[in-house]
Amino acid sequence: MKKIFALTVFFILFSHLAFTQPKNDKDDESDENNEKNEITVLFVYTKKVALEIGNGAKTIQEQTDFGIKQLNECLKNSQIGVKAVAIPELVEVDVSNDISDARKELDELTDVNGKYNQVHKIRRQKKADIVCLITTGDKKGVANMYGDMMVCYFNVFNGSYIFPHEFGHNLGADHYPGEGSGASNDYLIEYRGELYRTVSNNGGVSIPYYAEDKTIEYEFRYQDRNDDLKWKKERKTVKLGDKNYNSVPTMRTQAKKTMQFGENLPPVKNNPDAYTARLVNATTEPMLPGANETFRVLDFTYDRLADEYTFTYNASAVYTNSAREFHIYWIDGQQRDKPLLLANEGLNGGYPGVIKWKLHRKIKAGDILQLRCWEVNGELQIQKEIVVK
Ligand SMILES: [Zn+2]
Repeated sequence: MKKIFALTVFFILFSHLAFTQPKNDKDDESDENNEKNEITVLFVYTKKVALEIGNGAKTIQEQTDFGIKQLNECLKNSQIGVKAVAIPELVEVDVSNDISDARKELDELTDVNGKYNQVHKIRRQKKADIVCLITTGDKKGVANMYGDMMVCYFNVFNGSYIFPHEFGHNLGADHYPGEGSGASNDYLIEYRGELYRTVSNNGGVSIPYYAEDKTIEYEFRYQDRNDDLKWKKERKTVKLGDKNYNSVPTMRTQAKKTMQFGENLPPVKNNPDAYTARLVNATTEPMLPGANETFRVLDFTYDRLADEYTFTYNASAVYTNSAREFHIYWIDGQQRDKPLLLANEGLNGGYPGVIKWKLHRKIKAGDILQLRCWEVNGELQIQKEIVVK
């Protein structure tokens, strides 16, 4: 029986997450030299995801591209010797009610003759080594241990290392000894009040390494809240595991087998009861009617007498991206060149589309308030400025 491991999604805000800034280099360049060392991943999403997520297939692909970048960073850091490559097209499955139990969903996905039968046909055609199903069901990721199938909640790609974690299970990586599949107090290192773990560990903020018996120097990046949110770096010595732990050697061995999965897939028979599945080119795919728009700030106002700001955004789109953050800066007469941070809040699915809060500062008429919304990768997306009346 295949073991299945799960990682619960933690809605932590990752503004202070220590990952390397992603560059815009394309990962899909044809790389003749490394072709033998590639593990290909076919991303499959349910129609419900396309309805929930901003801009549908385009946003899904942006997020899976980001997930692949994070995964490759982990694989490279741990010297697994393989690179993950996404199949250029996505697969959309016509299912509107996602299964709320990720393990059942994974069982269904794994069954070649089951509801995802058409996905297996497309997978064989594309010779994909691993299939990752993205759903709106369970808020977690699950994967077959030493396998080639995983299910990920649609929100996991934007700031968590859950996708690389599940990929690790496919390559035989277990949880760190002493940890169950649930929460654990075991942690790697405490840095500026935050607990960091390796990708092999369960939950929390990860650094992009799988666990092994090794000590490394790791450069933590953080935004200093006491110094105008300037980005700073600090190197620390980090222990990745103890001498009994062999996650990385296991992954290296299993990676060679995983690379053969796609090439060796047997023909798939038809199941007339299967969900309809089709290949999608995300760049040309239109947004589904009724789908949510991408994140947008609708309004930003400040009532000086009530000392209350109101920030309105299209909430459902925020639900697709737990890692967004907004900051409110105050620019008064004396501080024209040096905005002062007044509020620094995260946005996630639990929030409504309107946030009202008091600033508790002596904001004067004529002062300027700036609202800045940030993406998970640190890029400024939206800035709104108002002059206080
Ligand atoms: Zn796990």
